[in-house]
Amino acid sequence: MTQDKIAGLLDKGVPAHLVAQLVSGSMLAPVLQELLAALPDVTSAITSLGPAGLVVEERGSSTINALTVPTGDGMVIVFNAGLSSALMSVCAAVSRMTASLPGTHRDASAGDPDLHSAAGALMELAVLVDWATSRARKPIHGRSDASVTELELTMAHHATRFGLCHELGHVLAFVDQREQVTEPVQVETVVLDALQDGWEREHEADRVGLKLYRQVLAVEQESQCWAPIGAEVFLQTAGMLEDQLPGSDVNRHPSVDERLVRLRSQFLEVDEPADDLASLAADIRRHLEGGRGFLREDIPTRRTSTIEVLDDMFSLYGKAEAQLSEEDKIGLGRQVALFLTQRSAGATLDYLHRKLWAPASALEVERGRPSPERNLAQYALGWLSEEMLECLDWPDGPRGNRR
Ligand SMILES: [Zn+2]
Repeated sequence: MTQDKIAGLLDKGVPAHLVAQLVSGSMLAPVLQELLAALPDVTSAITSLGPAGLVVEERGSSTINALTVPTGDGMVIVFNAGLSSALMSVCAAVSRMTASLPGTHRDASAGDPDLHSAAGALMELAVLVDWATSRARKPIHGRSDASVTELELTMAHHATRFGLCHELGHVLAFVDQREQVTEPVQVETVVLDALQDGWEREHEADRVGLKLYRQVLAVEQESQCWAPIGAEVFLQTAGMLEDQLPGSDVNRHPSVDERLVRLRSQFLEVDEPADDLASLAADIRRHLEGGRGFLREDIPTRRTSTIEVLDDMFSLYGKAEAQLSEEDKIGLGRQVALFLTQRSAGATLDYLHRKLWAPASALEVERGRPSPERNLAQYALGWLSEEMLECLDWPDGPRGNRR
């Protein structure tokens, strides 16, 4: 979808959340088709993959951002659902911090960046990244249409497309047999063969991805400035998730900072007035780096303070349980569940998990009934929606030992 199409859809009154789904999120297949339409060489290379061809799927995951895997009769690009949501939120934050970008309805006359709502957008982003990297693996909350702007949709669109072009880089390397299958990797519950990971391969996929995306933009007669912007937004967002997940995707990919350094210099190598085109990306980078720094501090702090408050609540409950009515207990369970949306989903879900799956204490065994703490965790669980329970990354099933 070109930028004009995004503007056209919004002008026609298509709800912003549907446009958001079109540009990123749950409708990646048409986005991939659109890229391939501008890349005939890649399209013909894909025919050698097998009858299933190339498919893109969105899944909840707390360990990968995006991954391309061969399936025997084709290849699948797995795109993390949390990453899609985070991209939208990152773009919301950036669009509120940036006064002007080309091809959007906003321009310099729009005045100073709205710092108040930029701060609000960062807080929203912190909540979302906390969700995306929690046991829920994807954010279970939506944003209101009213706050979605054309600029953020456009940025998220280009970021998603850059991400897919990076994956196309892996696909081409696989077709050329430069990448081979070595180890199986678990993606959600499906075991797939992973491509041998190597940091040079990632840099190469970035390099090819940027080249491909510049071709797409040229065919669509869009400004080349969107290539470095797409790369910047995609990789910085991936970095925001990775910062909260030490030891997962971090090991599969080189650091996003290193990747961006290389992409920027690659972009500046071309003979067009690349400096001017890259200056917009540089502008956005300042905001993104600031945002990433904020999240690195804010999310762990948010998680620590949530655990402290939960500890207090559980300990008070333990002392008072005998005097509480059933109604009181259900009400307290609700208060704990509210911590998910109001404080930290990551910390609250971990905490409930610990309480629910704690080995039975000597006292519990002796009395033949669960401890007050286990009970309170169960009451909290009773307030979680089916949707949430389904997507929880809990080893013993979504419901714990619910009575
Ligand atoms: Zn990769």
